[in-house]
Amino acid sequence: MVDTIEDESYRELKEGISSGVKKHYLDGLGQLRRRLQALAQWYGLSYLEERLYSTICPRCGAKMKELNNRRIQCPICGFNDNRDNVPLIWAKKRYWEILQKQPVFSPITLLSS
Ligand SMILES: [Zn+2]
Repeated sequence: MVDTIEDESYRELKEGISSGVKKHYLDGLGQLRRRLQALAQWYGLSYLEERLYSTICPRCGAKMKELNNRRIQCPICGFNDNRDNVPLIWAKKRYWEILQKQPVFSPITLLSS
């Protein structure tokens, strides 16, 4: 499960950057993505790239409001967390959904247990 940046913002970043170092970093990111994909395929793991939400409540799906100190809160169910954690929660949810759809034993179950 990989939290991607949108292709458009990726392109904008790439075009807007004059410094060679940053450009190199972005090219590296592209290579890393391809490498991860190939590895996942090799091990027979599910691979999913998706833009993960950072402002949608993972508990009830409502739009969350930003508080101070990068904390974010759901006005509907009261869920609150650091906004950097929210995409991680979504990643876990998504990964769990993939596992539900594919009840095949995979090495990742060993790693995470
Ligand atoms: Zn909520």
